[in-house]
Amino acid sequence: MLRINEDRLLTDLRELAAIGATTDGGVDRQALTESDIAARAWYRRKIAEADLEYAQDGAGNQSAILLSAPPSEKRILAGSHLDSVPNGGRYDGSLGVLVAFEALRALKDAGLRPPVTLEAVNFTDEESAIMGLMGSKAVVGQLTRTDFERSRVDVEELIRRFSAAGISPESMLAATRDDVLAWVELHIEQGTRLEDAGLDIGVVKAIVGIRSIHVTFRGEAAHAGTKPMELRRDALWGAAAFALRAREHVMRKYSPGVCNVGKISANPGAFNIVPAEVYCALEFRHDSEAEMDQMQADLIGLLEGCADEFGLSVTYEATPPVIPATMSESVMGAIERAADKLGLSHERMLSFAGHDTQNIADVAPAAMYFVPSVAGISHNPKELTSDADCVKGANLMLHTLLELCDISKSLPHIAPRRHRRS
Ligand SMILES: [Zn+2]
Repeated sequence: MLRINEDRLLTDLRELAAIGATTDGGVDRQALTESDIAARAWYRRKIAEADLEYAQDGAGNQSAILLSAPPSEKRILAGSHLDSVPNGGRYDGSLGVLVAFEALRALKDAGLRPPVTLEAVNFTDEESAIMGLMGSKAVVGQLTRTDFERSRVDVEELIRRFSAAGISPESMLAATRDDVLAWVELHIEQGTRLEDAGLDIGVVKAIVGIRSIHVTFRGEAAHAGTKPMELRRDALWGAAAFALRAREHVMRKYSPGVCNVGKISANPGAFNIVPAEVYCALEFRHDSEAEMDQMQADLIGLLEGCADEFGLSVTYEATPPVIPATMSESVMGAIERAADKLGLSHERMLSFAGHDTQNIADVAPAAMYFVPSVAGISHNPKELTSDADCVKGANLMLHTLLELCDISKSLPHIAPRRHRRS
């Protein structure tokens, strides 16, 4: 059976990890900063050495391309991202790009011309140094000018970074593609379910949606000594009660959904003043949009109940949601057949983190799979996936691409989603 070149893959991983390397073994390659630009130059060089075609689109997404003969109109894409979080690990994203690239090289080495053109893609700014999932958002036509205004870096810095990669806001807005036949991504799990269950592969069945709500409880400031406790309208009591009740309710009723109160700040904020106003950042995630609607209604009910109980008022404001993305049955099937062929154990699971795959799923059959993360550590220099698991993941990519080529004529057409993420 056809296999990837293990030594070449692992050498690539080591070479790439040296770009933007931190002293503690991690990498810092925030999107389109000097180290990310260096990683991109490295990838381009490797593609040239492999004698594959190279392309960069208007969003700065880079592709290694193995053309079919004759070149097909539509293409099967695989990949991930080479950028990292500040002081991140060497596997998140990188491994996904490298296994796709290695799969193309292995096919080329074997003298195989695929029936459909294949691309190994590095998506720009997955990790939110600028806005997050930026390159894939551009590809599926969901990027808007407003997104640039919401960028995490100021305009001058944005333009500086874009020009370092040879792109501009205009080229990004024009980077929409309509030639994607299917998409597959390998990613590290960033959790412990595979390790705990002793499984090789997690086939992602859905990427959860995310809703974030700004909540403010309002009571009344008072002297923290003289005001009798039974007469206080302490906004923090409402917030504290809510955080615990939301935990209990979501665990009981919405598992595997999750919620988080990630920030609480009290005003005026002093030892000797009863808090008049408390801000909470509430977030919750689930793979079902209908369940999320119900979850939101329940959580708002809890907010109002807690406010009432402590004599407070409460207001809330939702930010634009991330819609859950269901993975394609055709692509999941291809991953599973390839895993069976390779003797890899697998199970379907949810992704609780966001990935470029959720954007591509809007326009093409898409799916992703996980390889184990040692101790689940991620977004951390200690992030680790064993060499053996990297190799398994790469062979699975190679055979998944072959499976997708086999079913390329019967892959479904995806109608773009009604809800637009903004
Ligand atoms: Zn990632």
